[in-house]
Amino acid sequence: MKDSTLKKLEILAESAKYDVSCASSGTSRKNMKNGIGSAHGWGICHSFTGDGRCVALLKIMLTNFCLYDCAYCINRQSNDIPRAAFSPKELVELTIEFYRRNYIEGLFLSSGIIKNPDHTMEKMLRVIKDLRTIHRFNGYIHMKTIPGASSELVYQAGLYADRLSVNLEIPTEANLKRLAPDKDHQSIYLPMGHIQQHLLQNKEERKKFRHAPKFAAAGQSTQIIVGATDESDKQILQLTSKLYKRPSMKRVYYSGFVPVNSYDKRLPVVHDVPRQRENRLYQADWLLRFYHFDVNEIVNDQYQQLDLNMDPKLAWAIRNPQYFPVDINRASYETILRVPGIGIKSAKLIVSARRHGRLNLEALRRIGVVLKRAHFFIVCAGMKSFKMQEASADYIRISLQEPAKSIESFQPQQLSMLL
Ligand code: SF4
Repeated sequence: MKDSTLKKLEILAESAKYDVSCASSGTSRKNMKNGIGSAHGWGICHSFTGDGRCVALLKIMLTNFCLYDCAYCINRQSNDIPRAAFSPKELVELTIEFYRRNYIEGLFLSSGIIKNPDHTMEKMLRVIKDLRTIHRFNGYIHMKTIPGASSELVYQAGLYADRLSVNLEIPTEANLKRLAPDKDHQSIYLPMGHIQQHLLQNKEERKKFRHAPKFAAAGQSTQIIVGATDESDKQILQLTSKLYKRPSMKRVYYSGFVPVNSYDKRLPVVHDVPRQRENRLYQADWLLRFYHFDVNEIVNDQYQQLDLNMDPKLAWAIRNPQYFPVDINRASYETILRVPGIGIKSAKLIVSARRHGRLNLEALRRIGVVLKRAHFFIVCAGMKSFKMQEASADYIRISLQEPAKSIESFQPQQLSMLL
Protein backbone atom coordinates (compact mmCIF):
# COMPACT_ATOMS: atom_id res chain seq x y z
CA MET A 1 0.00 0.00 0.00
CA LYS A 2 1.31 3.47 -0.92
CA ASP A 3 2.49 5.72 1.93
CA SER A 4 0.03 8.43 0.89
CA THR A 5 -2.88 5.97 1.03
CA LEU A 6 -1.72 4.74 4.42
CA LYS A 7 -1.60 8.30 5.73
CA LYS A 8 -5.11 9.01 4.45
CA LEU A 9 -6.32 5.75 5.93
CA GLU A 10 -4.92 6.70 9.31
CA ILE A 11 -6.58 10.14 9.27
CA LEU A 12 -9.93 9.09 7.87
CA ALA A 13 -10.35 5.94 9.96
CA GLU A 14 -9.53 8.03 13.04
CA SER A 15 -12.14 10.60 12.01
CA ALA A 16 -14.72 7.86 11.45
CA LYS A 17 -14.24 6.12 14.76
CA TYR A 18 -16.78 8.23 16.61
CA ASP A 19 -19.74 6.45 15.18
CA VAL A 20 -21.27 3.97 17.62
CA SER A 21 -22.93 1.85 14.97
CA CYS A 22 -19.53 0.19 14.72
CA ALA A 23 -18.25 0.76 18.22
CA SER A 24 -15.49 -1.79 18.37
CA SER A 25 -12.96 0.04 16.24
CA GLY A 26 -10.18 2.13 17.62
CA THR A 27 -8.33 -0.76 19.28
CA SER A 28 -4.58 -0.64 19.10
CA ARG A 29 -2.54 -3.55 20.40
CA LYS A 30 0.96 -4.78 19.58
CA ASN A 31 1.87 -8.40 19.14
CA MET A 32 3.26 -9.91 22.34
CA LYS A 33 6.04 -12.41 22.78
CA ASN A 34 4.83 -15.80 21.54
CA GLY A 35 1.52 -14.16 20.49
CA ILE A 36 -0.19 -14.12 17.15
CA GLY A 37 -1.29 -10.98 15.32
CA SER A 38 -1.77 -7.38 16.32
CA ALA A 39 -4.55 -4.82 16.16
CA HIS A 40 -4.34 -1.30 14.79
CA GLY A 41 -6.81 1.47 15.24
CA TRP A 42 -7.32 1.84 11.53
CA GLY A 43 -10.97 1.47 11.02
CA ILE A 44 -11.68 -2.25 11.25
CA CYS A 45 -14.87 -2.60 13.23
CA HIS A 46 -17.51 -5.22 13.80
CA SER A 47 -21.15 -5.02 13.05
CA PHE A 48 -24.10 -7.44 13.06
CA THR A 49 -25.98 -8.25 9.90
CA GLY A 50 -29.74 -8.82 9.79
CA ASP A 51 -29.27 -12.58 10.15
CA GLY A 52 -27.14 -12.12 13.29
CA ARG A 53 -23.69 -12.69 11.76
CA CYS A 54 -20.84 -10.58 13.11
CA VAL A 55 -18.87 -9.06 10.24
CA ALA A 56 -15.66 -7.05 10.16
CA LEU A 57 -16.11 -3.75 8.32
CA LEU A 58 -13.75 -1.12 7.05
CA LYS A 59 -15.13 1.96 8.82
CA ILE A 60 -13.95 4.98 6.96
CA MET A 61 -14.84 8.49 5.82
CA LEU A 62 -14.50 9.47 2.21
CA THR A 63 -13.23 12.80 3.52
CA ASN A 64 -13.09 14.59 6.86
CA PHE A 65 -13.19 18.02 5.22
CA CYS A 66 -16.55 19.51 6.08
CA LEU A 67 -18.36 22.72 5.30
CA TYR A 68 -20.45 22.46 8.43
CA ASP A 69 -19.51 23.39 11.95
CA CYS A 70 -21.42 21.13 14.31
CA ALA A 71 -20.32 21.92 17.88
CA TYR A 72 -20.10 18.24 18.95
CA CYS A 73 -18.01 17.04 15.99
CA ILE A 74 -14.26 16.67 15.78
CA ASN A 75 -14.42 17.11 12.02
CA ARG A 76 -16.19 20.46 12.16
CA GLN A 77 -14.87 23.12 9.84
CA SER A 78 -13.40 25.32 12.59
CA ASN A 79 -11.19 22.55 14.05
CA ASP A 80 -7.53 22.51 13.23
CA ILE A 81 -7.01 18.78 12.61
CA PRO A 82 -5.23 16.78 9.90
CA ARG A 83 -7.52 16.57 6.88
CA ALA A 84 -7.59 14.12 4.01
CA ALA A 85 -9.81 12.93 1.19
CA PHE A 86 -9.89 9.71 -0.78
CA SER A 87 -10.92 9.75 -4.39
CA PRO A 88 -13.69 7.20 -5.00
CA LYS A 89 -11.19 5.10 -7.00
CA GLU A 90 -8.69 5.05 -4.12
CA LEU A 91 -11.33 3.99 -1.64
CA VAL A 92 -12.63 1.26 -3.93
CA GLU A 93 -9.11 -0.11 -4.35
CA LEU A 94 -8.45 0.04 -0.61
CA THR A 95 -11.67 -1.84 0.16
CA ILE A 96 -10.92 -4.53 -2.39
CA GLU A 97 -7.33 -4.86 -1.15
CA PHE A 98 -8.49 -5.25 2.47
CA TYR A 99 -11.14 -7.69 1.38
CA ARG A 100 -8.63 -9.81 -0.56
CA ARG A 101 -6.31 -9.85 2.46
CA ASN A 102 -9.25 -11.12 4.49
CA TYR A 103 -9.16 -8.13 6.85
CA ILE A 104 -12.77 -7.17 6.24
CA GLU A 105 -16.07 -8.49 4.98
CA GLY A 106 -17.70 -5.16 4.29
CA LEU A 107 -17.61 -1.37 4.28
CA PHE A 108 -19.08 1.31 6.56
CA LEU A 109 -18.84 4.57 4.63
CA SER A 110 -19.50 8.11 5.80
CA SER A 111 -18.24 11.55 4.85
CA GLY A 112 -17.95 15.19 5.76
CA ILE A 113 -19.94 17.52 3.50
CA ILE A 114 -18.01 18.96 0.60
CA LYS A 115 -19.58 21.57 -1.70
CA ASN A 116 -23.15 20.43 -0.99
CA PRO A 117 -25.09 17.30 0.10
CA ASP A 118 -25.74 16.02 -3.44
CA HIS A 119 -22.14 16.45 -4.54
CA THR A 120 -20.96 14.47 -1.49
CA MET A 121 -23.56 11.76 -2.01
CA GLU A 122 -22.56 11.40 -5.66
CA LYS A 123 -18.95 10.72 -4.65
CA MET A 124 -19.97 8.19 -2.00
CA LEU A 125 -22.35 6.58 -4.45
CA ARG A 126 -19.52 6.22 -6.96
CA VAL A 127 -17.59 4.15 -4.39
CA ILE A 128 -20.34 1.67 -3.61
CA LYS A 129 -21.56 1.47 -7.21
CA ASP A 130 -18.07 0.65 -8.52
CA LEU A 131 -17.58 -1.90 -5.77
CA ARG A 132 -20.79 -3.69 -6.73
CA THR A 133 -20.80 -3.32 -10.50
CA ILE A 134 -17.12 -3.31 -11.52
CA HIS A 135 -15.57 -5.44 -8.78
CA ARG A 136 -18.65 -7.60 -8.12
CA PHE A 137 -18.07 -6.96 -4.41
CA ASN A 138 -20.67 -8.93 -2.52
CA GLY A 139 -19.76 -7.90 1.05
CA TYR A 140 -21.94 -5.92 3.43
CA ILE A 141 -22.17 -2.16 2.79
CA HIS A 142 -23.54 0.40 5.25
CA MET A 143 -23.61 3.93 3.87
CA LYS A 144 -24.46 7.09 5.76
CA THR A 145 -26.90 9.26 3.87
CA ILE A 146 -26.13 12.96 3.73
CA PRO A 147 -28.86 15.18 5.24
CA GLY A 148 -30.44 17.19 2.46
CA ALA A 149 -29.51 14.70 -0.31
CA SER A 150 -31.99 14.28 -3.16
CA SER A 151 -34.45 11.42 -3.36
CA GLU A 152 -32.91 10.10 -6.59
CA LEU A 153 -29.44 9.81 -5.03
CA VAL A 154 -30.87 8.12 -1.95
CA TYR A 155 -32.61 5.66 -4.29
CA GLN A 156 -29.38 4.94 -6.17
CA ALA A 157 -27.50 4.42 -2.89
CA GLY A 158 -30.12 1.93 -1.70
CA LEU A 159 -29.60 -0.18 -4.81
CA TYR A 160 -25.99 -0.86 -3.78
CA ALA A 161 -25.96 -0.54 0.02
CA ASP A 162 -27.37 -3.13 2.41
CA ARG A 163 -28.15 -0.50 5.01
CA LEU A 164 -28.60 3.28 4.83
CA SER A 165 -28.61 5.60 7.80
CA VAL A 166 -29.21 9.26 8.53
CA ASN A 167 -28.08 10.40 11.95
CA LEU A 168 -30.55 12.48 13.90
CA GLU A 169 -27.82 13.42 16.42
CA ILE A 170 -29.76 15.93 18.52
CA PRO A 171 -33.30 14.97 19.53
CA THR A 172 -34.98 18.38 19.40
CA GLU A 173 -34.94 20.87 16.56
CA ALA A 174 -34.14 23.86 18.79
CA ASN A 175 -31.05 22.18 20.27
CA LEU A 176 -29.94 20.89 16.88
CA LYS A 177 -30.09 24.42 15.47
CA ARG A 178 -28.10 25.68 18.43
CA LEU A 179 -25.29 23.12 18.08
CA ALA A 180 -25.41 22.48 14.35
CA PRO A 181 -26.61 25.72 12.74
CA ASP A 182 -26.23 24.32 9.21
CA LYS A 183 -28.68 21.49 9.87
CA ASP A 184 -32.34 21.21 10.67
CA HIS A 185 -34.61 18.27 11.33
CA GLN A 186 -36.29 18.60 7.98
CA SER A 187 -33.01 17.93 6.16
CA ILE A 188 -32.64 14.76 8.25
CA TYR A 189 -36.22 13.51 8.18
CA LEU A 190 -36.49 14.08 4.44
CA PRO A 191 -33.88 11.47 3.40
CA MET A 192 -35.25 9.16 6.13
CA GLY A 193 -38.62 9.55 4.43
CA HIS A 194 -37.07 8.90 1.00
CA ILE A 195 -35.49 5.67 2.26
CA GLN A 196 -38.79 4.54 3.71
CA GLN A 197 -40.73 5.38 0.56
CA HIS A 198 -38.23 3.59 -1.72
CA LEU A 199 -38.21 0.55 0.56
CA LEU A 200 -42.00 0.26 0.47
CA GLN A 201 -42.09 0.75 -3.31
CA ASN A 202 -39.36 -1.85 -3.69
CA LYS A 203 -41.37 -4.33 -1.64
CA GLU A 204 -44.33 -3.92 -4.00
CA GLU A 205 -42.11 -4.16 -7.08
CA ARG A 206 -40.54 -7.35 -5.84
CA LYS A 207 -43.96 -8.88 -5.31
CA LYS A 208 -44.71 -8.27 -8.99
CA PHE A 209 -41.25 -8.88 -10.42
CA ARG A 210 -39.20 -11.43 -8.54
CA HIS A 211 -35.95 -10.21 -10.07
CA ALA A 212 -36.44 -6.49 -9.32
CA PRO A 213 -33.24 -5.28 -7.58
CA LYS A 214 -33.40 -5.13 -3.77
CA PHE A 215 -33.34 -1.73 -2.11
CA ALA A 216 -31.38 -1.42 1.20
CA ALA A 217 -32.31 -4.93 2.31
CA ALA A 218 -31.09 -4.30 5.90
CA GLY A 219 -33.30 -1.19 6.25
CA GLN A 220 -32.21 2.06 7.86
CA SER A 221 -30.78 3.13 11.20
CA THR A 222 -30.08 6.39 13.00
CA GLN A 223 -28.14 7.70 15.95
CA ILE A 224 -28.86 10.09 18.81
CA ILE A 225 -26.20 11.84 20.90
CA VAL A 226 -27.04 11.61 24.59
CA GLY A 227 -25.98 14.27 27.08
CA ALA A 228 -24.78 17.04 24.75
CA THR A 229 -28.15 18.75 25.22
CA ASP A 230 -30.76 18.79 27.94
CA GLU A 231 -33.39 16.40 26.53
CA SER A 232 -34.75 13.96 29.10
CA ASP A 233 -34.83 10.19 28.63
CA LYS A 234 -38.57 10.61 28.19
CA GLN A 235 -38.04 12.88 25.19
CA ILE A 236 -35.39 10.59 23.72
CA LEU A 237 -37.42 7.40 24.12
CA GLN A 238 -40.63 8.96 22.84
CA LEU A 239 -38.72 9.99 19.75
CA THR A 240 -37.27 6.48 19.47
CA SER A 241 -40.71 4.95 19.79
CA LYS A 242 -41.98 7.18 16.96
CA LEU A 243 -39.01 6.22 14.79
CA TYR A 244 -39.66 2.51 15.32
CA LYS A 245 -43.19 3.02 14.03
CA ARG A 246 -41.56 3.54 10.62
CA PRO A 247 -41.42 0.03 9.11
CA SER A 248 -37.97 0.63 7.63
CA MET A 249 -36.30 1.77 10.90
CA LYS A 250 -34.26 -1.13 12.22
CA ARG A 251 -32.05 0.42 14.91
CA VAL A 252 -31.67 3.60 16.89
CA TYR A 253 -28.17 3.95 18.36
CA TYR A 254 -27.40 6.08 21.42
CA SER A 255 -24.04 7.74 21.70
CA GLY A 256 -22.96 9.18 25.05
CA PHE A 257 -21.61 12.68 24.53
CA VAL A 258 -17.83 12.93 24.65
CA PRO A 259 -16.33 16.44 24.64
CA VAL A 260 -13.90 15.98 21.77
CA ASN A 261 -13.61 19.69 21.04
CA SER A 262 -11.94 22.39 23.02
CA TYR A 263 -14.18 24.60 25.10
CA ASP A 264 -17.38 25.58 23.36
CA LYS A 265 -19.87 27.40 25.51
CA ARG A 266 -22.81 25.80 23.69
CA LEU A 267 -21.80 22.40 25.10
CA PRO A 268 -22.08 21.13 28.67
CA VAL A 269 -18.93 20.61 30.71
CA VAL A 270 -18.70 16.84 30.93
CA HIS A 271 -16.12 14.99 33.00
CA ASP A 272 -17.62 11.55 32.62
CA VAL A 273 -19.09 9.99 29.50
CA PRO A 274 -22.68 9.11 30.43
CA ARG A 275 -22.16 5.44 29.64
CA GLN A 276 -24.56 4.17 32.27
CA ARG A 277 -27.29 6.37 30.80
CA GLU A 278 -26.45 5.17 27.32
CA ASN A 279 -26.63 1.59 28.57
CA ARG A 280 -30.05 2.16 30.21
CA LEU A 281 -31.35 3.69 26.99
CA TYR A 282 -30.28 0.60 25.07
CA GLN A 283 -32.08 -1.58 27.65
CA ALA A 284 -35.23 0.53 27.33
CA ASP A 285 -34.93 0.36 23.54
CA TRP A 286 -34.79 -3.43 23.84
CA LEU A 287 -38.01 -3.38 25.89
CA LEU A 288 -39.74 -1.37 23.17
CA ARG A 289 -38.60 -3.62 20.36
CA PHE A 290 -38.80 -7.10 21.84
CA TYR A 291 -40.74 -7.04 25.11
CA HIS A 292 -43.97 -5.36 23.98
CA PHE A 293 -43.58 -2.39 26.33
CA ASP A 294 -45.23 0.92 25.51
CA VAL A 295 -42.88 3.88 25.87
CA ASN A 296 -45.15 5.49 28.50
CA GLU A 297 -44.70 2.49 30.76
CA ILE A 298 -40.96 3.09 30.81
CA VAL A 299 -40.83 6.90 30.95
CA ASN A 300 -43.63 9.36 31.54
CA ASP A 301 -44.34 12.71 33.20
CA GLN A 302 -43.70 11.20 36.63
CA TYR A 303 -40.54 9.29 35.62
CA GLN A 304 -38.76 11.43 33.04
CA GLN A 305 -35.31 9.90 33.54
CA LEU A 306 -34.34 6.22 33.60
CA ASP A 307 -33.04 4.95 36.92
CA LEU A 308 -29.26 4.63 36.54
CA ASN A 309 -29.03 2.08 39.34
CA MET A 310 -31.33 -0.54 37.89
CA ASP A 311 -32.45 -1.71 34.49
CA PRO A 312 -35.73 -0.24 33.20
CA LYS A 313 -37.61 -3.54 33.36
CA LEU A 314 -36.84 -3.95 37.06
CA ALA A 315 -37.69 -0.29 37.70
CA TRP A 316 -41.05 -0.76 35.95
CA ALA A 317 -41.80 -3.93 37.95
CA ILE A 318 -41.06 -2.24 41.28
CA ARG A 319 -43.31 0.69 40.33
CA ASN A 320 -46.13 -1.65 39.31
CA PRO A 321 -46.64 -4.30 42.02
CA GLN A 322 -50.27 -4.74 40.90
CA TYR A 323 -49.05 -6.91 37.98
CA PHE A 324 -47.36 -9.41 40.27
CA PRO A 325 -46.98 -12.21 41.20
CA VAL A 326 -46.83 -13.83 37.79
CA ASP A 327 -47.78 -17.48 37.97
CA ILE A 328 -45.09 -19.16 35.92
CA ASN A 329 -47.25 -22.22 35.30
CA ARG A 330 -50.29 -20.35 34.00
CA ALA A 331 -49.38 -16.85 32.74
CA SER A 332 -49.15 -15.98 29.02
CA TYR A 333 -45.78 -15.74 27.28
CA GLU A 334 -46.12 -11.93 27.08
CA THR A 335 -46.77 -11.67 30.83
CA ILE A 336 -43.83 -13.92 31.70
CA LEU A 337 -41.62 -11.80 29.48
CA ARG A 338 -42.23 -8.84 31.80
CA VAL A 339 -40.73 -10.54 34.84
CA PRO A 340 -37.28 -9.12 35.74
CA GLY A 341 -34.66 -11.83 35.31
CA ILE A 342 -36.57 -13.60 32.51
CA GLY A 343 -35.46 -12.95 28.96
CA ILE A 344 -36.95 -13.98 25.63
CA LYS A 345 -35.13 -17.32 25.51
CA SER A 346 -36.12 -18.25 29.08
CA ALA A 347 -39.76 -17.18 28.55
CA LYS A 348 -40.00 -19.41 25.49
CA LEU A 349 -38.40 -22.32 27.35
CA ILE A 350 -40.79 -21.87 30.29
CA VAL A 351 -43.86 -21.97 28.02
CA SER A 352 -42.57 -25.07 26.29
CA ALA A 353 -41.32 -26.89 29.44
CA ARG A 354 -44.51 -26.41 31.46
CA ARG A 355 -46.41 -28.53 28.92
CA HIS A 356 -44.66 -31.50 30.50
CA GLY A 357 -45.40 -30.67 34.14
CA ARG A 358 -45.53 -27.91 36.71
CA LEU A 359 -42.30 -25.93 37.05
CA ASN A 360 -40.59 -25.24 40.36
CA LEU A 361 -37.63 -23.01 41.24
CA GLU A 362 -35.10 -25.70 40.41
CA ALA A 363 -36.61 -26.19 36.93
CA LEU A 364 -36.50 -22.41 36.38
CA ARG A 365 -32.87 -22.29 37.43
CA ARG A 366 -32.05 -25.02 34.90
CA ILE A 367 -33.84 -23.04 32.18
CA GLY A 368 -31.58 -20.07 32.86
CA VAL A 369 -33.91 -17.74 34.79
CA VAL A 370 -32.01 -15.25 36.98
CA LEU A 371 -33.79 -16.16 40.20
CA LYS A 372 -32.04 -13.50 42.22
CA ARG A 373 -34.34 -11.05 40.41
CA ALA A 374 -37.26 -13.18 39.31
CA HIS A 375 -38.08 -14.77 42.68
CA PHE A 376 -39.47 -11.46 43.98
CA PHE A 377 -42.05 -11.37 41.21
CA ILE A 378 -43.24 -14.92 40.57
CA VAL A 379 -45.02 -17.89 42.04
CA CYS A 380 -44.36 -21.42 40.88
CA ALA A 381 -44.71 -24.99 42.13
CA GLY A 382 -43.26 -25.47 45.60
CA MET A 383 -43.03 -21.76 46.45
CA LYS A 384 -44.53 -21.18 49.85
CA SER A 385 -45.20 -17.46 49.48
CA PHE A 386 -45.01 -14.54 47.10
CA LYS A 387 -41.74 -12.79 47.89
CA MET A 388 -42.78 -9.32 46.74
CA GLN A 389 -45.48 -9.25 49.40
CA GLU A 390 -42.92 -10.01 52.08
CA ALA A 391 -40.33 -7.54 50.87
CA SER A 392 -40.83 -3.81 50.57
CA ALA A 393 -40.15 -2.05 47.28
CA ASP A 394 -37.16 -0.39 48.96
CA TYR A 395 -35.75 -3.73 50.04
CA ILE A 396 -36.05 -5.11 46.49
CA ARG A 397 -34.51 -1.95 45.07
CA ILE A 398 -31.57 -2.04 47.45
CA SER A 399 -30.88 -5.75 47.06
CA LEU A 400 -31.07 -5.68 43.25
CA GLN A 401 -29.68 -2.31 42.26
CA GLU A 402 -26.35 -2.19 40.50
CA PRO A 403 -23.87 0.30 41.89
CA ALA A 404 -23.05 3.04 39.39
CA LYS A 405 -19.88 2.05 37.60
CA SER A 406 -16.75 4.07 38.11
CA ILE A 407 -15.29 6.02 35.22
CA GLU A 408 -12.29 3.69 35.15
CA SER A 409 -14.47 0.65 34.61
CA PHE A 410 -15.61 2.01 31.25
CA GLN A 411 -13.66 1.67 28.06
CA PRO A 412 -13.10 4.99 26.26
CA GLN A 413 -16.27 5.66 24.36
CA GLN A 414 -16.92 7.18 21.03
CA LEU A 415 -19.19 10.03 20.15
CA SER A 416 -20.90 10.00 16.83
CA MET A 417 -20.42 13.02 14.80
CA LEU A 418 -20.63 11.62 11.37
CA LEU A 419 -23.46 12.09 9.02
S1 SF4 B 1 -21.39 16.12 12.17
FE1 SF4 B 1 -21.15 15.77 9.98
S2 SF4 B 1 -21.87 17.69 9.05
FE2 SF4 B 1 -21.45 18.15 11.21
S3 SF4 B 1 -19.33 18.91 11.20
FE3 SF4 B 1 -19.27 16.69 11.62
S4 SF4 B 1 -18.92 15.73 9.61
FE4 SF4 B 1 -19.64 17.85 9.25
